[in-house]
Amino acid sequence: MTSTVLITGASSGFGRATAQLFAAQGWNVIASMRNIANGDELASLSNVIVTRLDVQDTVSVEETINAGMARFGQIDVLINNAGFGLFGVFEGTSSAKIREQFDVNLFGAMEVTRQVLPHMRQRKSGVVINVSSGAGVFGLPMLSIYTSSKFALEGFSESLSYELASQGIVVKIVEPGGVISTGFGARSASEVAQVCAPADYNAFISHTAEVFEGLREQSLSTSEDVARVIFDAANDGTGRLRYLATHDIESMVRARRETEEESYMAMMRERFGPCACNGDGFNH
Ligand code: NAP
Repeated sequence: MTSTVLITGASSGFGRATAQLFAAQGWNVIASMRNIANGDELASLSNVIVTRLDVQDTVSVEETINAGMARFGQIDVLINNAGFGLFGVFEGTSSAKIREQFDVNLFGAMEVTRQVLPHMRQRKSGVVINVSSGAGVFGLPMLSIYTSSKFALEGFSESLSYELASQGIVVKIVEPGGVISTGFGARSASEVAQVCAPADYNAFISHTAEVFEGLREQSLSTSEDVARVIFDAANDGTGRLRYLATHDIESMVRARRETEEESYMAMMRERFGPCACNGDGFNH
């Protein structure tokens, strides 16, 4: 029987590339998105249905699952991809924006997972793939809310993996670095306008912007590269938990996981100085 994948946030970026790849590989695809007008190209493929799903709207989650089950009879793989990155210093970020970030990146993924699980549990089979980020592995300034939502998603995924192993269901985490060709940067830029930072942060913000600009220049991967990692994770038949999806963050991830804490923090503080409180311009 042909396998079926349900993908959230399939209107653009990784979600759309992943839907296209699974469809090209002969899978049935439930390509869900907030605005189905963005799914015309996918909807033209015979083994794809495009459904409206906003991860903040539980009814739309239920309707998507019902539509997918009615059309394809089962859901073998769930890809929680929908997300965005709130950018800006914490002190200038409203509680409403913080909640929205967690509603989409964490609680949204939890809700879709919770509603798909009964179908997978019934068949004692399934794979849940959560799209995290390098920011789910290491902390970054200006991204404290995004980072904490992805750290939480990683903690959730790791913990859930033990529970679901008892039901024959595998949980995986895919960690991309910076991919500039998706809608992610534009959404973050629109979100930053809503963050109102005190002027005391100005020097820090412009220095950090330069560091990020340097990091962006290393972002050579594409959505298709990330889609390939997601596809391989869905198909490798292993219980492996984490998959790094782009080369640009390999050294950062290795440093975070393998460097002794004090040296790692010194390296990061050096990178993200200057600090207003030190005469030499750097944190220590
Ligand atoms: P993208 O092109 O902006 O795609 C994000 C998708 O999430 C869009 O389809 C968007 O839908 C959807 N989405 C946002 N809020 C939603 C909601 N409430 N309900 C349902 N869908 C919603 O960006 P991307 O780079 O492909 O991002 C995909 C995932 O990768 C995200 O989880 C992101 O955190 C992660 N990631 C991205 C990067 C990167 O550098 N690009 C790096 C690491 C991790 P709309 O079109 O309706 O807004």
